[in-house]
Amino acid sequence: MKQDPDLKSRLEYVSRKIEQTARTAGRDPREITTVVVTKFQPAELIRELNQLGVKNFGESRHQEASRKTAELADLQATWHFVGQLQSNKARAVAGYCQVIHSLDRLSLLKGIGSADRRVDCFIELNLTADPGRGGIQPTGLVEFAELAVQEPNIRLLGVMAVAPLGVEPRAAFSRVREASDLLRTISPESKWISAGMSQDFEEAILEGATHLRIGTAITGTRPQAG
Ligand SMILES: *Cc1c(COP(=O)(O)O)cnc(C)c1O
Repeated sequence: MKQDPDLKSRLEYVSRKIEQTARTAGRDPREITTVVVTKFQPAELIRELNQLGVKNFGESRHQEASRKTAELADLQATWHFVGQLQSNKARAVAGYCQVIHSLDRLSLLKGIGSADRRVDCFIELNLTADPGRGGIQPTGLVEFAELAVQEPNIRLLGVMAVAPLGVEPRAAFSRVREASDLLRTISPESKWISAGMSQDFEEAILEGATHLRIGTAITGTRPQAG
């Protein structure tokens, strides 16, 4: 297989940054999972990353993810669904992804609930005032989580969020941490936080993120959506 030396050096650079930032925050870097977001990237790139030791991959569109996970079924990997999810696709996605980061509607609870296995899920928070964005408003978190924990097929890991454009990321992730604290009052084991992307993963680590979703800082430029 063709090896891209830049891919290896970007991966090493980001891993080092994560480790340094975790130590600055007084955290153990081993409690942080890096999900490399490979949406729109070819399967060969995922294979190459896997050979470099990456085990967690993030995808955001059902058709593409379904094709790639099938093609890469021989890899030792955990697949994360990080994009907006339509409820009529939820059952199918639950079939090939072990972790869903974008639980944000009651209809998804039913869809995932009807899958034939248990799926790890994050509740996505919408930190903007735009209802067209994915995620539930933080004010609706408790009510939604109380329903989510009743689905036997859902193991609620915690909260997920994307820092809105034009907002200081640290302030946004501080709201996520507050939401996480609130969630743990009703579901103590749901203590994980999925936050931080290529441009803001350091701020996310400082606010307690346990799952980073990093694309381009590791993969390099993303091809256009196909
Ligand atoms: C694409 C995407 C990422 C990764 O974004 P980068 O800026 O490439 O790191 C993370 N989370 C979600 C939900 C995404 O859609």
